Amino acid sequence: MPPILLAVDKTYPKGLMWFRRDLRVDDNAALYQALRACRQVVCVFVFDRAILDSLPRVDRRVEFIRESLVELDAELRSLGGGLIIRHAVAEDEIGQLARTLDVQAVFANRDDEPDALARDAKVLGALANGGVAFHTYKDHSVFERDEVLTQAGQPYTVFTPYKRAWLSKVDTFYLKPYPVRSYADALAPVPEKFKGPVPPLAEIGFEKSNLDQLEIPTGSQGGAALFDDFFQRIDRYHQTRDFPSVRGPSYLGVHLRFGTVSIRQLAGIAHQLTLQGDPGAGTWLSELIWRDFYFQILAHHPYVAAGGESRSFRPEYDKIQWHHGKHADMLFEAWCKGRTGYPLVDAAMAQINQTGYMHNRLRMVVASFLCKDLGIDWRRGERYFAGHLNDFELSSNNGGWQWASSSGCDAQPYFRIFNPVTQSERFDPEGKFIRRYLPQLAKLSNAHIHAPWTAKPLELVAAGVKLGETYPKPIVDHAEARDRTLQRYAVVKR
Ligand code: FAD
Repeated sequence: MPPILLAVDKTYPKGLMWFRRDLRVDDNAALYQALRACRQVVCVFVFDRAILDSLPRVDRRVEFIRESLVELDAELRSLGGGLIIRHAVAEDEIGQLARTLDVQAVFANRDDEPDALARDAKVLGALANGGVAFHTYKDHSVFERDEVLTQAGQPYTVFTPYKRAWLSKVDTFYLKPYPVRSYADALAPVPEKFKGPVPPLAEIGFEKSNLDQLEIPTGSQGGAALFDDFFQRIDRYHQTRDFPSVRGPSYLGVHLRFGTVSIRQLAGIAHQLTLQGDPGAGTWLSELIWRDFYFQILAHHPYVAAGGESRSFRPEYDKIQWHHGKHADMLFEAWCKGRTGYPLVDAAMAQINQTGYMHNRLRMVVASFLCKDLGIDWRRGERYFAGHLNDFELSSNNGGWQWASSSGCDAQPYFRIFNPVTQSERFDPEGKFIRRYLPQLAKLSNAHIHAPWTAKPLELVAAGVKLGETYPKPIVDHAEARDRTLQRYAVVKR
């Protein structure tokens, strides 16, 4: 069913638009509906203590949000509105604010993560007690929840038929932008009591990260600039996307996460180009469909990532006995710090640790390495990524980890075990990526940079590499680890 639009007849004298992970004006579903339904719309963003208080004091994502809010506030002000910013527990704050501002309805875009659903249920209750309506809209995905089902009315659990159904359903109706600016005259300025600039990081208890040095562009303008750049090379995406030293992907993940770009706009352009026969755009569109796929997996099967402890999509995979104890902790620590002795794995971990980004091919390689070479529970890696990725998305992260560990809905078979050396030779053949993140190996030849322990002692000396000192020896033997993994996975043979 297409979304049901509220009448333009200004049902409510005053409404509150609650921004969450949709930090843009243009093509914002809930903002559009609020402006149509209310004579006056006040806007708010809450730095939610329920989330922020558990984070380390330096977090690029908090800074990304803060910088994006500065732009959003300025843009709303230029249209006659502005942003109230609160630092509070959102589930308490929204009800109180609705009372203080005397609004009749609150508008927000839906978030189907289990914690967000629980928060929204509480907000709904508090608002309902005060006679205030709570309207939510689809905005983060092209299709959500029950919109794409099998002919038997069941949710899909395999990607290819899901993608086929997605493509046969999508049309301009689902992709057309919401013309927010046409209704912007309903935006109300920030009431005197709440006026003030977006608080500096220190005021909400955080310190600056290296976001500036990394030149990660923030806000809608940043998202648009990244997309403009990607648009020039989208036609080559299918050929370039697997090579981490090449500027192949879009780097839009963090913008999709915080809604500083519109998924409808991106998917709309990719869909148009795909219809015109552009293979790069077709492959990229598939990735955006994977994102919708994992959203609906989480919505229909919340047990995979609810309650702080993820569970295997295929329950039999929870019978696996993972390596644990002191030795496992030491291996895990080496993986986190990029000290496994496998250069591609270590360079990838340096990338996430230094920048908060990791190339998709490398996410697959390091995830496979953790659970299939080190025998460590994929959930430990999932948590590490959740803490470090700028574009952390609960559904896609869980889906990616379950794909790599073979426990997922449409995962690679358990006996497919990436060889970290051949992956390196194939996807970083000249070692450019490795050299960027592991300068201590830069002088090794292309033949040996993927597996320094295979170099002759003289070559190591000439390259200034002392194995075990300047760079670790491999912490496991891949062939032996492979055998152990096949035994470990024997409990789930399928
Ligand atoms: P592009 O290649 O330009 O793709 C465009 C967008 O499509 C991405 O930004 C993302 O929103 C979506 N996308 C691409 N690949 C996938 C995919 N396989 N599954 C779902 N959506 C996809 N993606 C996240 O957004 N957040 C995560 O927390 C996350 N964790 C992952 C963990 C593992 C173990 C693996 C294997 C993959 C994970 N991915 C995750 C998917 C993918 O690696 C990233 O989306 C991608 O690398 C982001 O870079 P980009 O924006 O340059 O992507």
